[in-house]
Amino acid sequence: MRFAAIADRSALKAKMIHNIREGRVPHAQLILGPRGSGILPLALAYATYLLCRDQQASDSCGVCPSCLQAAKLAHPDLHLHFPIYLSEGRRTCSAYVSEWRTAVLREPFLDEQLWREGLQGENKQLRMGVDVAAEINHTLGLRAHQGGWKVILIWLPERMDAVAANKLLKSLEEPEPRTLFLMVSHDAEHLLPTILSRTQLIKVPALSHEAVEQELLARLPDLDPKEARSVAVRSGGDLLEALALVHGGDGPVFELFRDWLRACYSLKVPETQGYADAFHVMGRERQKGLIRYGMHAVRSGMLQGEGAGQLVHAEGEELRFSMDLGRLLDTESTRGIHQELEKAHAHLERNANPKVLFMDLSYRMHELLRG
Ligand SMILES: [Zn+2]
Repeated sequence: MRFAAIADRSALKAKMIHNIREGRVPHAQLILGPRGSGILPLALAYATYLLCRDQQASDSCGVCPSCLQAAKLAHPDLHLHFPIYLSEGRRTCSAYVSEWRTAVLREPFLDEQLWREGLQGENKQLRMGVDVAAEINHTLGLRAHQGGWKVILIWLPERMDAVAANKLLKSLEEPEPRTLFLMVSHDAEHLLPTILSRTQLIKVPALSHEAVEQELLARLPDLDPKEARSVAVRSGGDLLEALALVHGGDGPVFELFRDWLRACYSLKVPETQGYADAFHVMGRERQKGLIRYGMHAVRSGMLQGEGAGQLVHAEGEELRFSMDLGRLLDTESTRGIHQELEKAHAHLERNANPKVLFMDLSYRMHELLRG
């Protein structure tokens, strides 16, 4: 994976390259960002650049033996660690590495759900246990095959058991020269604070609508540009969500948000509870995506209400919805709803119980919509 393959993020990419060229590579880094934001490709591009034997000013060369190996996720100094199912005889990442490679090469924006699917639907918990920690320790003792850097990539370190995390902590406390721990996480709340404090944090925001649109069109050249635009806006900056929307997925976020808001307006309790149940099982990243979409929808409604409808990028049902919202909301209720959604988003990041949160939010929405 090269930086060139990553849409957007030019400032961040330039900074990463600059740091490597200046010889400023912290021994432990954590790339943190929401689902569908492309943190894994970013980490892989960074590792590829670090390992490249002919680093160019703005990207890895893409043709040296090191780049070729890294592109196949088969570089001997790029050690891959990720959550696995513990089973008889398969307790380390190396036992699963060919499946993981296939999954990442198929979809570099891999999330936990896709990774599960790549493992053929075993319904066990994905985790990293003491055996993985021992595997990482073993890696630390190895000499770099190619005499340069050794990169220990840990995807979703939040899935590490406490015992494993404590072992990792020991390694982080005694950094080895030219060894980089590169962690890639959606969820810093589940990491040990002691690990966080020894790690340089690179916070990556959700993709811009433009970047999602660009990525969609690059991947699906037959997609109608208008649809790409509309899907990108609705995805809340989550490329996986956008792809699910294009492919029909499990229902557009827009419809879910609209129908839920309507249920809140009339406060039909059984219906609202149904939405809370559906919300509960969505998974946290999609829950946050829904809330982010909600903030976007409310802003669009406000623009309609203020007669600035030309600034709203929506069409069809979604456009009608924004006009309905524009008629319904005044400045105060818009601000109130936006604040409630922001609060909900922050609570989700701090691991609130989604069902309770969603029920509370539904009652607050009812009050605010009815003014
Ligand atoms: Zn190269």
